[in-house]
Amino acid sequence: MKTLPLGVEPVVAPRHTFEENRSLIGLSHAEVAEKLKEIGIPEKQCRMRAQQVWHWIYFRGAKNFDEMSNISQDMRKKLAEHFDVGRPQIIEALISKDGTRKWLMKFPDGQEVETVFIPEGDRGTLCVSSQVGCTLTCKFCHTGTQRLVRNLTPTEIVMQLLVARDYLDEWPSPSEGRLVSTIVLMGMGEPLYNFDNVSKAMQIVMDDNGINLSRRRITLSTSGVVPEIYRCGEEIGVNLAISLHAVNDKIRSEIMPINNKYPIHELLTACKNYAGLKNSRKITFEYILLKGINDSDEDALELVRLIKEYQIPAKVNLIPFNPWPGSSYERPSKTRIEKFSDLIFSRGISAPIRTTRGEDILAACGQLKSESEKVRNIRKH
Ligand code: SAH
Ligand code: SF4
Repeated sequence: MKTLPLGVEPVVAPRHTFEENRSLIGLSHAEVAEKLKEIGIPEKQCRMRAQQVWHWIYFRGAKNFDEMSNISQDMRKKLAEHFDVGRPQIIEALISKDGTRKWLMKFPDGQEVETVFIPEGDRGTLCVSSQVGCTLTCKFCHTGTQRLVRNLTPTEIVMQLLVARDYLDEWPSPSEGRLVSTIVLMGMGEPLYNFDNVSKAMQIVMDDNGINLSRRRITLSTSGVVPEIYRCGEEIGVNLAISLHAVNDKIRSEIMPINNKYPIHELLTACKNYAGLKNSRKITFEYILLKGINDSDEDALELVRLIKEYQIPAKVNLIPFNPWPGSSYERPSKTRIEKFSDLIFSRGISAPIRTTRGEDILAACGQLKSESEKVRNIRKH
C-alpha cells in the first residue's frame, strides 16, 4: 500500500460532485418548493416535499436522492434528473498534530476555499470562509494578498458545514453533544462584503427543521464594514467579533486600509449600538499583536479606555501574529504578549491569548488558502 505523507487523509472522490445550478443546498424552504413546482410536482404537494427533502439534506446529511427512503422511487428519480444534493470536490483533507482539521474544497468554477475545524474536547469550532480571497488588503493577512476574489454563494457557504460533518461522521444531526458546536465566520474573506449570501446561509444553518444551530453559537468576524454591522444586528443577530487591531486611526489605517473609510469612532459607535440591540451580549474585539507596532503598554491601556468610554460590553481576544512568507511583521515575545494581556485583565476586561492551532497544516488565522496552494505546488515538483 502506498504510504501517505504524515497527516494527510486520503481523499475519496465523491460519487456525486455537486453542480452549482442544480444544487438544492443553500436554498430557502420557499425556493426549494418553487424548484419542485418548476419540474411539474403538483403545487399542493410542493411544500410537503420541500420539507422532506430539507430534512434529508440538513438533518440526515443525504448526499443523493436514493437515500431519501420516504420519498417514492419515481419521485426520487425525477428529483435526481433535475437536481443535486452532492458535495464539492475535496482537494485536500488534513489533520494537524493537535487535532485541527482542514479541508480544501473546489467549486465547479475551479475556485477553492478552505474550512478549518478546531476541536476542543468533545466539541469544536468550525471556521467558515465567506469569500474566495479578500479585497481588503490588511497588511498582516495572507488572504488579503490573493489576487483572485469572489463572493461565495449560500450553497458554497452551507456546503462547508456539510462537508465537515461528513468527515466527522456527524449525521443525523444530534440535538446535543455535537462535535461541530459553534461556527465562526473567520475563514477567508470579509463576510460583511458578502452580506446577502452570508445572511441567507446563516438562516439555513439556524433553521430548526435542519441543523438548528442557535445564533448564540455563531460568531461573525468583520474588519469593520460599519453600515453592514447595523444590518447584521437587525437581520442575522449572531455574535459579533471586530478585528480592531489598533487603538488609533493612524496605526489602524496603516495596517487596515478599511479604516480610512470607517474610522475607529464610527466603528465603536456601531459596536455600542449592536450590543444594545442584543441585550448587552458581549462583543469580541480581536487584537492582533504585531511587534513594535501595536503591542505597547500604552496601547493596552488605551484599548481599555476606549472600551470603557464607549461603554461596550466587551471581551478582547489577543491573536499573536502568525507569520507567512513575505510578511513584514513579527510576533512579539511571550512576555510582551502576557504583559499586554495582564494589563487588560487587571482592569476588568477578559483578554485571553488565542492559542495558535493547526500551524503545521497552515490552518492558523491569516494563513489560509494561498499557503496551501504553495504547499501543493511544492509537492508537485
Ligand atoms: N475578514 C474578517 C474575517 C476573517 S480574518 C476579519 O478581518 O475580521 C479572521 C481573523 O484573523 C481576523 O481578526 C484577522 O485580522 C486575523 N488575522 C489575519 N491575518 C492574521 C495573521 N497573519 N496572524 C494572526 N491573525 C490574523
Ligand atoms: Fe480580509 Fe479579514 Fe484578511 Fe483583512 S484580515 S484582508 S478583512 S480576511
